[in-house]
Amino acid sequence: MKPVIPFVSNADGAERQAWRTALQEVLKDIADVKTFEELTPDECEAAKVAIVANPDPAEVAALKNLIWVQSLWAGVERLVGELPEDGPLIVRLTDPQLADTMAEAVLAWTLYLHRDMPRYAQQQSRKMWKSHQLKLPEERTVGLLGMGNLGIKSAQRLKANGFPVTGWSRNKKSIAGIETSHGPEGLKSLLAQSDIVVVLMPLTAETRGMIGAETFAHFKIGASLINFARGPIIDTPALLSTLDSGHLSHAVLDVFDQEPLPEEHPYWVHDKVTVLPHISAPTITSTAAKIVAGNIEQYLKTGAIPAAVDRTRGY
Ligand code: NAP
Repeated sequence: MKPVIPFVSNADGAERQAWRTALQEVLKDIADVKTFEELTPDECEAAKVAIVANPDPAEVAALKNLIWVQSLWAGVERLVGELPEDGPLIVRLTDPQLADTMAEAVLAWTLYLHRDMPRYAQQQSRKMWKSHQLKLPEERTVGLLGMGNLGIKSAQRLKANGFPVTGWSRNKKSIAGIETSHGPEGLKSLLAQSDIVVVLMPLTAETRGMIGAETFAHFKIGASLINFARGPIIDTPALLSTLDSGHLSHAVLDVFDQEPLPEEHPYWVHDKVTVLPHISAPTITSTAAKIVAGNIEQYLKTGAIPAAVDRTRGY
């Protein structure tokens, strides 16, 4: 008999069923995928691994013998916050397609800033015909905060398009063709040279609120910010005052403290803010399902669990 793999998610009915169907299709030869409410008590007892997407922590806790959970998302701060430290290991989604999608988004919105699109959109709204001097990509340094799966691919894509790139990470890193740094001094030096700063770090105890007034003070005058990681990494009042003072020229924000962004939030109407509805790199069902199936198949055959989140560092 094939093992049953629980799929635990609080997504709405249609989205949950779409995922369940995709997961069942890729796992059909080796396992049966069932949503939490379809599980029998024996199946709950027997489950060693579950696939999760914003699960209700009580449902995960009801699977008492779980060894690990496979997340369908790359960002796992919610699981890290909600599942007990002695609970199942957390394996996040690492999908090369997701990294390509993010790299495309980073390039697209870097070009949006590089080619002055916010300014030309505002001019159009005032029927103003006025050109501004064009800079070359070579004259615009992009600094990436976070050089993991998404940061490295984004850096390479930017570099291939002519932008000088510099990357910052928690630990020292060496990446062919990309200048890198780490630590507080490394951050200051990246900020001092970057015309566009892109945030691609996970939300952890260390990164929450990391980009606040003190950090903004080290940004180049007139620099722009892109946040494609998580909203709470940025201190909202500090960002608003840095934009209002003219120190920063524009912010492209895809992620927020509260999503959907509340209607009364000042970002919606701020002329130096571009609001995106968390779309820079959505999980792609077809490729993610295959990665998840590969991880689960390997576990069922060999007992090997993919690299899990380090609970002490939070990612
Ligand atoms: P990853 O592979 O874990 O890489 C994270 C990078 O951030 C690493 O380079 C890490 O440094 C660095 N980092 C972590 N904590 C740091 C700190 N305190 N100071 C400096 N650098 C720090 O993660 P990923 O797959 O690239 O994903 C990054 C984040 O993107 C996810 O956590 C998620 O929140 C977000 N995301 C957003 C979307 C979207 O649609 N907006 C989609 C997918 C993912 P080390 O290299 O030294 O470990």
